[in-house]
Amino acid sequence: MLFSSFKSLVNLVFPRLCILCFSETPNEGQDFCVECLINMPHTNHFRKRNNAAAQKFWGRIPVEDIASVLNFYDYSDVRWMMHRLKYEGRKDIGLVLGLMAGKKMLKSPFFNSIDLIIPIPLHKEKLIKRGYNQSSYIAKGINEILQIPIREDVIKKSVYTKSQTIMGRMERIKNVFDSFELNDKNSIQGRHILIVDDVLTTGATIEACARKLLEAKNVKISVITVCIARS
Ligand SMILES: [Zn+2]
Repeated sequence: MLFSSFKSLVNLVFPRLCILCFSETPNEGQDFCVECLINMPHTNHFRKRNNAAAQKFWGRIPVEDIASVLNFYDYSDVRWMMHRLKYEGRKDIGLVLGLMAGKKMLKSPFFNSIDLIIPIPLHKEKLIKRGYNQSSYIAKGINEILQIPIREDVIKKSVYTKSQTIMGRMERIKNVFDSFELNDKNSIQGRHILIVDDVLTTGATIEACARKLLEAKNVKISVITVCIARS
């Protein structure tokens, strides 16, 4: 009670801005303005099994359930929102988008048998530089809705991979393929793992991480990303 009245006071003095377009939000506690809520570029992935995200992994790795929450176009508000999450310290955006993903998973006919959530790990050096792993915050939001445990001790990124933006697809895959290391194979045996990442572009990082996790016996992989890059 005390906390909520403090929160409303904060909102009065510093009105909460929409995390997509920076307009003032109409009501306390809302993360998006009405216009952004109406025009949010949702995907159809939570109702459609052979969706655009699933297609990225056809012929590459076995994936049970997969979905991205939002479509991500160049120079769009969503793109800049993801930039703020990743590079401007806005961990809160990760949490909000994770909650959004969790609610969609809850309503979806898929994602029914997930045992644990693994956010794509960052290399230690990158983690120190950035101060946080954006995917961990997305995972926290999902955990809050679905109450499925997060495991960040199972797999680590042991090789620092170069920035991938200027590389071609094959080069990216080679670059990340051997960069993950499995710490505790036995503890994930027979589990259905949900891999969480921010943006799905080529899928090379997710593929590499999944391949590593699949080295454990009878593991099943599902994937959630907040965005999928569309052209
Ligand atoms: Zn807005």
